Amino acid sequence: MEETLHSIWEATADNPPDAQLPEGDYTANVLVVGAGFTGLSCALQLAKRGASVIVVDAVRPGFGASGRNGGQVIPGLKYDPDILDQMYGEATTEFVGNTAKTTFDLIEEHNISCAAQRTGWIQASVKNSHIPTLQSRMRQWERRGAAVRMLDTASAQALSGSKRLVGGWLDERAGQLHPLNYVRGLARAAIDAGCILLAPATVKSTKRVDGKWHASIKEVSSTVVKCDHIVVATNGYSGDLFPKLRRTVVPANSFQVATKPLSDEQLAVVLPKRMPVSDSRRIGNYFRIGPGGRLMIGGRGTFRDPTSANDFRDLISQLHAFYPWTTSMPLEFFWHGKVAMTMDHLPHIHQPTKNVIMAVGYNGRGVALATSMGKAIANHLLAPTNPLPLRFTDIKPMPFHDMHRTYATMAIWYYRLRDYLES
Ligand SMILES: Cc1cc2nc3c(=O)[nH]c(=O)nc-3n(C[C@H](O)[C@H](O)[C@H](O)COP(=O)(O)OP(=O)(O)OC[C@H]3O[C@@H](n4cnc5c(N)ncnc54)[C@H](O)[C@@H]3O)c2cc1C
Repeated sequence: MEETLHSIWEATADNPPDAQLPEGDYTANVLVVGAGFTGLSCALQLAKRGASVIVVDAVRPGFGASGRNGGQVIPGLKYDPDILDQMYGEATTEFVGNTAKTTFDLIEEHNISCAAQRTGWIQASVKNSHIPTLQSRMRQWERRGAAVRMLDTASAQALSGSKRLVGGWLDERAGQLHPLNYVRGLARAAIDAGCILLAPATVKSTKRVDGKWHASIKEVSSTVVKCDHIVVATNGYSGDLFPKLRRTVVPANSFQVATKPLSDEQLAVVLPKRMPVSDSRRIGNYFRIGPGGRLMIGGRGTFRDPTSANDFRDLISQLHAFYPWTTSMPLEFFWHGKVAMTMDHLPHIHQPTKNVIMAVGYNGRGVALATSMGKAIANHLLAPTNPLPLRFTDIKPMPFHDMHRTYATMAIWYYRLRDYLES
């Protein structure tokens, strides 16, 4: 697996939690594979309610997308509430509408120090033609009681400090946090609740033995974790443990950069209320103020992992387009991570066999959603009458997945063209 190059989060994070190296055999009710938001939130809920839980990560807690993302805590899915009602029913829409609250409440309950702020979030547009869609989305959430409102051009520009925006909507349920400190805080809370966290510990195979699951750990060939249930929370970092699962997602790189700290004068006009922003294009950008008053921006990168600052030039040109004065601003951090994209742009929960649950495919919206999904899976394991927010779907590997770089790159260029052609 690749290593983060130079992430703002690694540079500003608290100490990592105490993971143990695997040694000997382990027995637990539940083995959680993957120590990101999904796995740790699930493990924490289970352990708090008395289950014995082992969490393993192939590298370390937060190594995956959870330790590298933009830290924007956004409720909802990419589909609008009316469509979600039709697809899944109102309970699912309510669940996804509450994911930011679930996340902030969990942080408060466990006193996790991760700069969490319920600032609100702006979905803004650089295209006039997108405004009716944003208005419809806002109205649909408004009808469901969410604290949301439209922003006209002047408000969007004042709240962002960017003259490129033509409008947007503000969702006050949302906010931001320091993702690496959050995932590390979740890991600490899970350990305090009684979980055993093993890392580096890669599950290389699983098999049924006498009604239990036995999971073998790559790093220590003699170690076996014996358990009743397995929760697979490997998302965009899914490897060959379950090859069919890996082929249900395209692990698309999202790149981010952060500037040197802004001056007080700049901070007074750039995102002055500190609300993070996502732009509404199909291949859009997201930006916020990060640690130390640095301006951060992210967006779709190449499938090839970056090796130098030069690989970030497309993203940097977007930074310059949103904030022209940044052309003279030195950049301090460049990093990337893998977003798990699905064919239908929706997350999926699978139960391919007895006592195994898998959750993947947050499509770049996983800070709040993965946290809530992990909690929901835990509640379901504790009492199967507790419904999951999404029905189980079959694992459907994408055809020609080995060629995903080619066809996903073509799709991205197609979406970029459509973005370009819109007024
Ligand atoms: C650059 C970037 C920016 C993003 N920005 C945002 C944002 O601002 N807001 C938002 O809502 N979402 C954002 N996302 C999405 C969000 O980060 C993810 O949806 C979320 O973190 C997924 O969490 P997870 O726990 O499911 O998976 P991950 O955090 O990816 O964790 C998976 C873990 O599984 C481990 N693993 C894999 N295979 C094995 C194995 N065999 N054995 C043991 N361990 C294994 C990996 O080491 C990894 O640590 C962003 C993603 C990226 C990459």
